Amino acid sequence: MSKKEIPYKIYLTENELPKEWYNVRADMRTDHRPLLNPVTHKPVTLSELEPVFCTELAKQELNDTDAFIEIPKEVRDFYKMYRPSPLVRAYCLEKYLDTPAEIYYKFEGNNTSGSHKLNSAIAQAYYAKEQGLKGVTTETGAGQWGTALSMACGYFGLDLTVYMVRCSYEQKPQRRTLMQVYGAKVIPSPSDTTEVGRKMLAEFPDSSGSLGTAISEAVEVAVKGNGTRYVLGSVLNQVVLHQSVIGLESKTAMEKYDVYPDMVIGCAGGGSNLGGLMAPFMRDKLQGKESPYFIAVEPMSCPSLTRGKFAYDYCDTGKVTPLAKMYTLGSSFMPAPTHAGGLRYHGMSPILSQLYHDGYLDEARAVSQVDVFKAAVEFARVEGILPAPESSHAIKVAMDEARKCKETGEKKVILFGLTGTGYFDLISYERYLKGELKDAVPTDEALAKGENALPEV
Ligand SMILES: *Cc1c(COP(=O)(O)O)cnc(C)c1O
Repeated sequence: MSKKEIPYKIYLTENELPKEWYNVRADMRTDHRPLLNPVTHKPVTLSELEPVFCTELAKQELNDTDAFIEIPKEVRDFYKMYRPSPLVRAYCLEKYLDTPAEIYYKFEGNNTSGSHKLNSAIAQAYYAKEQGLKGVTTETGAGQWGTALSMACGYFGLDLTVYMVRCSYEQKPQRRTLMQVYGAKVIPSPSDTTEVGRKMLAEFPDSSGSLGTAISEAVEVAVKGNGTRYVLGSVLNQVVLHQSVIGLESKTAMEKYDVYPDMVIGCAGGGSNLGGLMAPFMRDKLQGKESPYFIAVEPMSCPSLTRGKFAYDYCDTGKVTPLAKMYTLGSSFMPAPTHAGGLRYHGMSPILSQLYHDGYLDEARAVSQVDVFKAAVEFARVEGILPAPESSHAIKVAMDEARKCKETGEKKVILFGLTGTGYFDLISYERYLKGELKDAVPTDEALAKGENALPEV
């Protein structure tokens, strides 16, 4: 317990911004399962990744030896426009829950794109620009990644084509406009602009789309294009690396008040925000210095950690990306169109997957959409911030844990990631308030189908 009085918000100064990202893979005592070529099933080489990814990012993807990697000055300068982000002591939530627990959240929603995704978007756009590329392509689910990348590409003057999962494209037209303001071209996926998309439409004309399909489309266009590469907003090692700024800042801020988390909680879509938040604390755990308890929270509708299999799988539906060893529901799994689009992905970051498999990431918990919105509304009423539905998965579990502390009297220090704001999710909030939201939990049959379609490696 700390002795100094802790303010509502712990801000860092510009000088305290991290100068290096932390690469947790360097400290993991495990045999890193390499990415495999989707055709030969041999470990991918840098030269095989280069047609798809920017060279510097491909190097980061394969790097499992350097614990710290310098953040380029241009990226740090951009970070200064919206970082350091505040670490909030949730006094009002603690009071509302009447808990002896100390609750902290790292708020990543204070930039126009509204989420943590900008942390990696600006880095990826920078490396593309440095390499002299003309533009990049990507996919977006709920739209947060597409918006973040639009801002980053707008800043560096790069062309950007975004394949947006159709159900989000229809649910969130304002997201599309926001991306267009920053200069991006936005196409609903599946589309007739790619081979993968046309195939999908022929088979499922009413498909509401998935991140996996949108990824295939974006990769296809990047590889066929001239001077274009593909960039991805989560899952990959390079993205977890960039997101480590979240954890590094959190740790520095907590250290100022001699606080250390007993518990670190994050929502997990592709796993990059939680991977980033927990990174420096995981380092302590890997080095045997501290033993914080880590919880990944996922939606019941897309339960890759809690009900998936740890296996090699494609990162996309079209099977054009390398195979990654990860917890997966199978690349053919189509999650229901829930209101947390950013968590609708069939797989999980290979880093998080390995840490979970090895027992360092202690627990994965799947929660119901209705419970998540209930927690989101309670949180909004006491802490003021309107949380994104994705972030609210972490809120829900943090609140559950704080309530447990009330029963046991434990003064646990709980840190969770508040990844973004929910202004573009008001239709979802409206449906929740009207009592129209339901949970779409996949049947064992549906999961078995996905699992059976896993590639044999
Ligand atoms: C994309 C997104 C997530 C999911 O993040 P991952 O890093 O893929 O786990 C969570 N919250 C918000 C607000 C998002 O936009």
